[in-house]
Amino acid sequence: MSIIKLSQDVVNQISAGEVVERPAHLVKELIENSIDANSTIIHLEIASGGRFIRVSDNGVGISKDNLELALTRHATSKIIKTDDLWNLTTFGFRGEALASAAAVSYLTITSIKKDESVDQSAFQLESRFGQFSKINSANRNQGTEIKIESLFENVPARLKFLKSDAAEFSQIRSVVKAMALANPQTEFKLVNNGQLEFLFKIQSIQLERIKDVLEIKKMYQNTSHRNDYTATAFFASPHEVHRTSKNIWIFAQGRWVQDRGLQAAVTEAHRSLLMHGEYPICAVFLNCKPDQIDVNIHPTKSQVKFQDASLAFRAVQASFRDGLEQAPWIEKNQIHQINHTNVNSKFVAAQLTAQLESTNLINYTFNDQVLNQTIQNKKRFDSNQLEHLNAPSTLVKSTASTSAPAYWSSFDVIGQVNQTYIVCQKDDKMILVDQHAAHERVAFEKLMGRWKSRSHDLSAQQSSEQSSDVQIFLFPIAIDLSVEKIEALMTVQYEMQKIGIDFELMGPQVLGLKSSPSFIKDSVYPFVFEKMGQEIIDHGGSHRLDLVITDIFATMACHSVVRAGQSLSLVQMKQLLVDMDEFPMSSFCPHGRPVSIEYNFHEIEKKFGRIN
Ligand code: ADP
Ligand code: MG
Repeated sequence: MSIIKLSQDVVNQISAGEVVERPAHLVKELIENSIDANSTIIHLEIASGGRFIRVSDNGVGISKDNLELALTRHATSKIIKTDDLWNLTTFGFRGEALASAAAVSYLTITSIKKDESVDQSAFQLESRFGQFSKINSANRNQGTEIKIESLFENVPARLKFLKSDAAEFSQIRSVVKAMALANPQTEFKLVNNGQLEFLFKIQSIQLERIKDVLEIKKMYQNTSHRNDYTATAFFASPHEVHRTSKNIWIFAQGRWVQDRGLQAAVTEAHRSLLMHGEYPICAVFLNCKPDQIDVNIHPTKSQVKFQDASLAFRAVQASFRDGLEQAPWIEKNQIHQINHTNVNSKFVAAQLTAQLESTNLINYTFNDQVLNQTIQNKKRFDSNQLEHLNAPSTLVKSTASTSAPAYWSSFDVIGQVNQTYIVCQKDDKMILVDQHAAHERVAFEKLMGRWKSRSHDLSAQQSSEQSSDVQIFLFPIAIDLSVEKIEALMTVQYEMQKIGIDFELMGPQVLGLKSSPSFIKDSVYPFVFEKMGQEIIDHGGSHRLDLVITDIFATMACHSVVRAGQSLSLVQMKQLLVDMDEFPMSSFCPHGRPVSIEYNFHEIEKKFGRIN
């Protein structure tokens, strides 16, 4: 067959297949057009899974002589030259969406151009699978309405690929939600088969719109920068989770994008807060200079390419991590109510010394470090109190500002039940703290903190050897491992030294453990090294080191601390709560189980029938 140029009809249909593969894609294009036209109201009506779509807006409108152009391929009011592609201020730029939609449906466009002194009436143009009608005058007093019927009826193959009406509509709902998340200054209404799905009123604050759309009452916001990349994260407390990653909403330059890399950045940031199979409910808006991002790499513009993907990743990760580390869901009014009886260091220290002599079961609780820490805590809390009583001297102030809030340690400890839970009381509630989960968190945070703080040390080895809570073995402890795993572990030796773990090669398949932080039991190492070796082999490369280390620390923490089923003295329990205050995220254990649960007295009284 000789080469012939395809007719415009065929060209339109081919690219319609790319641009409007599914009704949801078309809905997205239509909303983007309305937003590009500066609309503050966008109302959508859907029926039959999107084979009927009506979008109505109050934007700038289209003049009579531009109506046909609006439905013509590669006709756009948004860019003129290729350079403009790198400086986009609009969603649209290809001039393809309406032409594509017109090629595969009955499309009616009705519009009135604002501020036109001469001609103030509305006009309408119809297209039947790409064949235009004459332009008629119409009734409309603002903006544009685009009505699409019989979508894909002339492309049976495309129709066959559509899923159930419910499934197609669910895609459409997601698209409208995404547009609503990114455009709080616009009202969105979605009606499906005559039923109101949602109405989001204009919000001047984006956080409020995000709460409306994600249906979460308490959400928080944090912005982080990495060079030219700025990410603003909107997140909830880790109590609010979803079973799928569907509620992680990612936007680049205000566009909703599907980007696996950035999605990983979001889940990474939540790593130690959620259980396996749990996903956060959140949104993140990443922005950079226009020339740092290519939005023109995908037919539906749902994927983008960054000049520096790793900076984008880090900005997103930091925006969540920095926000989550503040644990803003912990009520701050509890912070300054310090209950002194719980941090009476002399009492705690004396009891601990007595315990030290009688038992050495729990490494972590019973070393000098804890005693020192207790005394430091006491000092800190005193200065904290001072600040409230007197006009603070600068010295006192600076001590106080670095101190963690007394939250856990402000609980009254009542006792222990089932040798697993610490029973506490505070204000109007009873709190049960899972001793294992709590201890695990403390050990985990200690390891992380130590690793991070020593990252900048000149000589990690020196500093870890100097620190009193690292145990150096007289004879290295031999651990059998495969050659590959030993090789893998050697690549992180320097990082491990930072936290006081040191090892050397003892034989082709034997690693010798030379030192370990004293709160980690030696017995965990064969297991931990196996796991660590495997992780490094699986993930490779040092850029994944953060991940590997987080995982390893979680495992170490889990295997090194008090177990459920171990009885604790009152002093030990109190000390645990004091230790928990050292860390901002101590309300959750590294594997994501809750550390504590609360019972309100009000509810208890109800159960007893004291009140109704
Ligand atoms: P693009 O958005 O890439 O320019 P479209 O095919 O989506 O291409 O739209 C073609 C043109 O029609 C736009 O450039 C714009 O001028 C006009 N247009 C489309 N929808 C609207 C609307 N809702 N309000 C005003 N103008 C619109
Ligand atoms: Mg467009």
